[in-house]
Amino acid sequence: MRLTLYGGAGEIGGNKILLETKSTRIFLDFGIRYSVRAMYFGAFLQPRRFSLLSDYLLTGILPPVRGIYSRELLGEGLDSLDSDAPAVDACIISHAHLDHSGHASFLREDIPLYMGEGARVLIRAREMVRNPSPEHLFNRGRSRGERLCQTFRTGSRITVGDIVLHPIHVDHSIPAAYGFIIETPEKTLAYTGDFRLHGPMGWMSREFIEACGEKAVEALLVEGTRVGDDKRFTEEDVRREMTSLMSSSHGKMVAVVVGSLDFDRLKTVLEASQASGRTLVVSLHHAHILKHLAGGGLRMDVPRMAEDVLMAYQKRRGSGKYEPADYSGWMAELVEDPTIPLLRDADISSRPDRYVLALSRAEDIIELADLRPPPGSPFILSTSEAHSEEQVLEQEKILNWATLLNMRFHHIHASGHASAGDLIESIERINPEKVIPIHTENPHLFRKNLQMEVEIPRTGEALEL
Ligand SMILES: [Zn+2]
Repeated sequence: MRLTLYGGAGEIGGNKILLETKSTRIFLDFGIRYSVRAMYFGAFLQPRRFSLLSDYLLTGILPPVRGIYSRELLGEGLDSLDSDAPAVDACIISHAHLDHSGHASFLREDIPLYMGEGARVLIRAREMVRNPSPEHLFNRGRSRGERLCQTFRTGSRITVGDIVLHPIHVDHSIPAAYGFIIETPEKTLAYTGDFRLHGPMGWMSREFIEACGEKAVEALLVEGTRVGDDKRFTEEDVRREMTSLMSSSHGKMVAVVVGSLDFDRLKTVLEASQASGRTLVVSLHHAHILKHLAGGGLRMDVPRMAEDVLMAYQKRRGSGKYEPADYSGWMAELVEDPTIPLLRDADISSRPDRYVLALSRAEDIIELADLRPPPGSPFILSTSEAHSEEQVLEQEKILNWATLLNMRFHHIHASGHASAGDLIESIERINPEKVIPIHTENPHLFRKNLQMEVEIPRTGEALEL
């Protein structure tokens, strides 16, 4: 059998792992290669909409593999990549982060797509708040229609040709993240996706690791984002530090930058806000995602909006005067929904010390200008590590705004990825014959720290297993 990485080899994210047996070919993840994309594209330099695929192929963000891309996106000059039948039998998405799922939208519609039930709800909710785009999986515009996808949960069994996949939940900085045990006629493999042990749901990752051990996994595709970093700051540490900072900031407002899909962190911020007698205020975007997750029939404890506990911030748009016509689509639905308690800028600026404001998008930060936080108010950055140049750039701008508004900067964060010590411990427990490090800039550190065989993959080069 063969394994080819078209993304995720020697880089963090962009996982596109082609697994081939004698009769079956599947992709594990089909994410965006942010590190490569940042070399050629940015906020003002975008791929052209009419030649999205060719611009991505030219720059190496997508691989030139025949028979996998949607015919509708294969424009002129790309006929050589077309084929009658699809060249792969399925694509399995480990979780909803874009570095794992973001380019699955380019795959042919007749390639079956699989993802966790929760991942599907998250991706749909995320895409609903943006204009339709060919880069969306579900909200793709009228001409491309809705993409079909099959969902799974822990305990499901996915059979594709002669490959059987067993998805098992893992803990990561987004709900509905999975690892997989993969049985083929030749070998049993495992793919960790992205995972951590130190998070609030660390037991889920441990269950995955135990199952890998029981199945006698022979080759392990393991993420190594933090193989060079042994800091073990937990979600509990985040909660403690935030609570103490919020409680001691008398007369100040608190702003926290938190990813809109990182629910563990949102819960932590909510707990810290409550413990310090404050109300947590989220953006309308954030409230929209919470509403969809709560209504998605998932086995997940989603924080509910409630007066004086968790409220939504109605920002000014259009006329700047809160006219009903300023809000349309999903935003109008939220603003008119009597179950969503809303606050406006005057409510917050009159009593800044009663609130914690969660910012989840770069544009939320400008709202702070209207809220006039008292000088020295804490500004807490609590997002995942910057994995792409774009994020670094945004963080720089965010900091400039915080400084401009005389806020005091703090970084309080626990990673979504296992520490070096936890990674090594997990691998030793699974005890595979061969370790294949992916999703890391430091694959050689696995060789240094492990007694077993480590095979370091290179982009586009097949490994025979
Ligand atoms: Zn990732």
